[in-house]
Amino acid sequence: MADLYINGSWTGAADGGTRDVLDPADGSVLAHVDEAGKSDVDDAVGAARRAFDDGPWRTTTAGERATALRAIVDGLRTNREDLARIESLDTGKTIAEAETDVDDITAVFDYYADTAGKDEGRVVDTGVKGAISRIVYEPIGVCALIAPWNYPLLQMSWKLAPALAAGNTCVIKPSEVTPLATIELVRIIAATGLPAGVLNLLLGDGAGTGAPMTEHPGVDMVSFTGGLETGKRIMATCAADVKNVALELGGKNPNVVFDDADFDSAVDYALNAVFFHSGQVCSAGARLIIQENLHDRFVDELARRAARIKLGRGQDEGVEVGPLVSEAHRAKVERYIQTAKDEGALLRCGGKRPDDPALADGFFLEPTIFDRCDRTMTIVREEVFGPVLSVETFVSEDEAVFLANDTEFGLAGAVWTADAGRGQRVAQRLRHGTVWINDYHPYVPQAEWGGFGKSGIGRELGPTGLEEYRESKHIWQNTDPAPMRWFNRQEQ
Ligand code: NAD
Repeated sequence: MADLYINGSWTGAADGGTRDVLDPADGSVLAHVDEAGKSDVDDAVGAARRAFDDGPWRTTTAGERATALRAIVDGLRTNREDLARIESLDTGKTIAEAETDVDDITAVFDYYADTAGKDEGRVVDTGVKGAISRIVYEPIGVCALIAPWNYPLLQMSWKLAPALAAGNTCVIKPSEVTPLATIELVRIIAATGLPAGVLNLLLGDGAGTGAPMTEHPGVDMVSFTGGLETGKRIMATCAADVKNVALELGGKNPNVVFDDADFDSAVDYALNAVFFHSGQVCSAGARLIIQENLHDRFVDELARRAARIKLGRGQDEGVEVGPLVSEAHRAKVERYIQTAKDEGALLRCGGKRPDDPALADGFFLEPTIFDRCDRTMTIVREEVFGPVLSVETFVSEDEAVFLANDTEFGLAGAVWTADAGRGQRVAQRLRHGTVWINDYHPYVPQAEWGGFGKSGIGRELGPTGLEEYRESKHIWQNTDPAPMRWFNRQEQ
């Protein structure tokens, strides 16, 4: 095996470590891959360091980097179906979802190819005679990019495209649970002829590979997407060396529905908000906050439709939702379901594994709705990251806003109403990084993504997503130097 990509070559793990990657639809082994240890981390960071300090990448022009990114875009277009098939197999998501992900990352590389060359700095109007002052942007250096298992290609590309566009060198690590499509992504990028050491791939888990990456003194920046507790640990590690750090963490996202919302659309999107990809989405609308007088009709219809969602293997025709990513993750979600029952939430549908014997070996769980929840319940407060919806009710607009903001997270949320003024008012009062009005889930490479509160630090996508990977430098020139005589004035 040679699944690690270090200094322009495919190689195995130095200590021979390997890992089985499982198919979440039936628990079978999909692949054996290399598992990097500390010496592989040293090699990869060393290669990235040399490529940055001595290599040509950092001094390429933005236009040259844009050309390199466009070659990646071409590679992604050529390999779209293959890449989507691997991502679907590895994560369990449907082929249609995986194809959307590949289209998304293609658009992201395309966007940063365009953006990289457009902002080469600015002239500062100092008001000081004879001075020329300007701001230029430079890459930060060696970036360690660490991604989770729910959107392996997408979360990595949101980091990698701007990092490369800004002229950094990178050591990347996908989740140990879902590494396969990222290996393929690196093959596609390597084939474009990027200089050796600019992009390095490590595979492995948090303790054995991720932690040594973030601790490594040769790393200048860590960008991490994943869980809150891991994010806290990484931030503490980065503090020791004052490394730059960007964190995209969890969410507990409110979907607020007023009684004047278009009923069919609001139900349809509420379903999509929470059950898309089995709810394993950081921005999943897992908290339905509904106006009391609409509650009965709305939740009846939601439960009716949730019970009819077709579960199955993501690669099969007609399947709408795949399995959860792993046995361990499903067990975690099942513990949350038990806690919700114990704390008195009313189970309206799901709450168990499907009866279909054809799905018995996969990590499936039925779409689940808990009604009559209140803000003290665990199911309302903690990120479940599975197909589980909690329902709370409100009477007034103020109460709706209070409940929507009643979370330590602040990633995303939505408001549904036919009253345009109210939509804007509520959107402005929500303490979340993305707010949708009469919609759920859309994002575009041009618009920033990120969280308030404990949902993270920094932003991905948009112009700010490039800023994260650049240092700004102020260059000042005195065009007419003469002694200023601040000191020794008496000698004049
Ligand atoms: P996780 O924190 O367990 O792992 C994420 C990545 O970090 C993996 O690659 C893992 O190997 C690595 N890792 C684990 N411990 C580490 C350590 N000590 N040092 C360095 N690396 C370490 O998260 P997960 O279970 O893979 O992903 C689910 C989480 O990701 C959810 O909380 C979800 O909300 C979050 N997420 C957030 C966004 C966002 O945009 N905000 C997007 C997707 C997922």
